Amino acid sequence: MVKINKTMMQYFEWYLKSDCNLWNNIRLQASYLETIGITTIWLPPAYKCAGGKEDTGYGVYDLYDLGEFNQKCSIETKYGKKEEYLDAIKSLKGNGIEVLADIVFNHRMGADDKEEVLAIEEQVNNRTIDVSTPKIIEAWTKYNFDARNNTYSDFKWNWTHFHGVDWDEREKRKGVFRFYGKHWDNDVDKENGNYDYLMGCDIDFNNVDVSDELTKWGKWYLNTTNVDGFRLDAVKHIRADFLEKWLKDLREMTGKKLFSVGEYWSTNLISLQNYLDENNNDMCLFDVPLHYNFFNASNSNGNFDMRTILDNTLVKTRPDSAVTFVDNHDTQPGQALCSWVQDWFKPLAYAIILLRKNGLPCVFYGDYYGIPHDNISEKSDILEKLIKARKYFAYGDLKDYFDHPNIIGWTMSGDYEHPDSGLAVVMSDGPGGPKQMNVGTRLANSLLYDCTGNVKETVYVDSEGNGIFYCNGGSVSVWIKKENIYD
Ligand code: CA
Repeated sequence: MVKINKTMMQYFEWYLKSDCNLWNNIRLQASYLETIGITTIWLPPAYKCAGGKEDTGYGVYDLYDLGEFNQKCSIETKYGKKEEYLDAIKSLKGNGIEVLADIVFNHRMGADDKEEVLAIEEQVNNRTIDVSTPKIIEAWTKYNFDARNNTYSDFKWNWTHFHGVDWDEREKRKGVFRFYGKHWDNDVDKENGNYDYLMGCDIDFNNVDVSDELTKWGKWYLNTTNVDGFRLDAVKHIRADFLEKWLKDLREMTGKKLFSVGEYWSTNLISLQNYLDENNNDMCLFDVPLHYNFFNASNSNGNFDMRTILDNTLVKTRPDSAVTFVDNHDTQPGQALCSWVQDWFKPLAYAIILLRKNGLPCVFYGDYYGIPHDNISEKSDILEKLIKARKYFAYGDLKDYFDHPNIIGWTMSGDYEHPDSGLAVVMSDGPGGPKQMNVGTRLANSLLYDCTGNVKETVYVDSEGNGIFYCNGGSVSVWIKKENIYD
């Protein structure tokens, strides 16, 4: 079978409704997704959360409850029941699509009970500075999972398994409280002095019972779900060597490759590179700096220097470790890291992640299907075209024409394995115009057309592979040879 380019899709957005039936929808969509060229799906966290059916998945309460036990007011999670989740995974894998599970380890939320703990309050903006002496607080740190009744695991969480919390029930007060005798881990991000603490009950990975339990859970989860890999949440708040060992243990136990991508939310390229090195490059990272380049370009009224669109990005410096994306569930309007790439720039950004050689591109559900909550329209038409163009044509050698502040372009020469492959891309964040480029000899003496439909005229490529390609203002055109896959 001919090998095709890998394309990942994040199959959820923040404001999906609690009756969205996501697991069932995925099961039904799997075959379509395979057809257009999606090879990898990132599914949202599947565990029971503090917010029950309203929870997007990051307020994890019980890792062992995948929509099976009556906890937090329902059996199912926001996305459905356990059997529906397992059926969705089966359907995706049956269609040859790899499945990544979202792993949320940093914190727990929605404890069953509180307990008295000696704690020291920390300055919120600098967690290396104590602002109180040790004092007794009431912390919500006891997790008993009564309704699960020890099924799969009899592990109960209490304060000794955590570093600290952000709520003192005794004084009914918010703050950052570090349990006395515990210390924030050093190998985490340095924002706020030390960014070990993010939210909820912060897990203490130094506790051997905790690391053993999470490894045991990982094995159970892989056996139960048969997923192929992981998207790892909030890795900059988790000691780096814990995840390295967790992945290594699971890979050894299962003999599986377990492709993994971490969410290290930072625009600091050096931090990302250091993290990759600390993990021996055993996981990829999302290319956060590239997302912000897109965000800035889309907000520059056509005055962004497009020649710099890939500057200071992971895909440029560590191409094999970069998962590129345009937006996600955290950057969408109303969310914590809101930095939404404007609509007009979306096709340009997606052409950059989908139609070049480097990085594994990840398409966002909210871009593909829209976000009704914020009246954001679906872009499935153009995105389907670009994803297909990646699947069929984005092969061979890449040649860049990043030689103008507005209009940039590149070509891919195509290769032997993929008939009629090769393409030319031209885009502008300002006025449109022409660009002379060489697509190589495979496409010599042929007529190319713009599969986006933005430019109607065709372009003739001469015997040496030269052509003059066009794009409209604030737009992208993708020139290819064959039309029939879009019929
Ligand atoms: Ca932490």
